[in-house]
Amino acid sequence: MTRGVTAVAATGGLPLRPELVGELPYGAPQIDVPVRLNTNENPHAPDPEVIADVAAAVAAAAAGLNRYPDREAWQLREALAGYLGHGLTADRVWAANGSNEVLLQVLQAFGGPGRTALSFAPTYSMYAEYARDTHTSWVLGWRQDDFTIDVDRAVALVHEKRPSVVLVASPNNPTGTALPLDTVRALVAATADAGGGVVVVDEAYAEFRRAGTPSALKLLSDAPRLLVTRTMSKAFSAAGVRLGYVAATPAVVDALRVVRLPYHLSALTQAAALALLGHAPRLLARVDELRTGRDALCDWLVRRGLSVAESDANFCLFGRFADRHAIWQGLLDRGVLIRETGPEGWLRVTVGTPGEVAAFQQALTQVLAR
Ligand SMILES: *Cc1c(COP(=O)(O)O)cnc(C)c1O
Repeated sequence: MTRGVTAVAATGGLPLRPELVGELPYGAPQIDVPVRLNTNENPHAPDPEVIADVAAAVAAAAAGLNRYPDREAWQLREALAGYLGHGLTADRVWAANGSNEVLLQVLQAFGGPGRTALSFAPTYSMYAEYARDTHTSWVLGWRQDDFTIDVDRAVALVHEKRPSVVLVASPNNPTGTALPLDTVRALVAATADAGGGVVVVDEAYAEFRRAGTPSALKLLSDAPRLLVTRTMSKAFSAAGVRLGYVAATPAVVDALRVVRLPYHLSALTQAAALALLGHAPRLLARVDELRTGRDALCDWLVRRGLSVAESDANFCLFGRFADRHAIWQGLLDRGVLIRETGPEGWLRVTVGTPGEVAAFQQALTQVLAR
């Protein structure tokens, strides 16, 4: 039986939108094994002092839980603007439950029926889902063999498709590739030219980028159609909080405020995120260790004779395997869960603690020796 037929049967006659029939919920398998290096989380739990501050902030917020939260999350947006720097202010920053919610709001505001969103594969698979869920046409260009974007071809595609939203992850997931600012500038100019669309640079992994790799935040002051998204899920060791944000113009923020749900960001989330931001220097010190660990892990994979994508993120994409599933399964059999994702033949491993990385290296050595 095909998956589609199963899903139709499973709808039990429900009026499911036809484009959702046969669709599966997004998500990596959450398998309970000792070493989980599959979802690009930060391997370090917050330390006791940070936990105590988050707990105190949440307790204080709990005293007011009979009231709806600040629906503008103003204090949090001020703190996020301060963290980002670049002269940003709260009216140019918007926050939601993970950058996934921010990105969905972007498509709700700027996509829609008769409109097109464009990205460049391989990239984050959720982008296509925001398009589907907002009835936005979805177009994919392709990255080059080294996972960079060919500017001329990208600009030509923008002129051909006239997208209202261009979504590019930098550093990209699952490849780790960061875009040069010239590429972002060219995309912003072409998209504006070709019909006035916006460009979103998804910088979920920005804090992990290598020295010398710039952030698109630098371009914001000259680019009113540029949006830069960030998250606390990776660098801030706070995937469980669900807090993502975007920097853009006040006009973009106003558009997102129109489509957001009422009181979308809970008082507890706002309190926890604020407390975590107060510890940014301490949390980011750990990110430095992970960046060093990332470079060491990618180098180690290269020395094993594997192909490894250049990474500015907290993971390494490596390959290429005739049967990547067998490698993935071999690792899982040894208690190490990584992600079977990216182009055929490649696998992605998140940088964990030194102990987790050692366990991965030992398991992969065994699997490759078979
Ligand atoms: C992890 C990730 C995010 C973060 O999503 P949240 O909803 O903030 O947890 C966003 N974009 C990409 C490309 C990611 O890999």
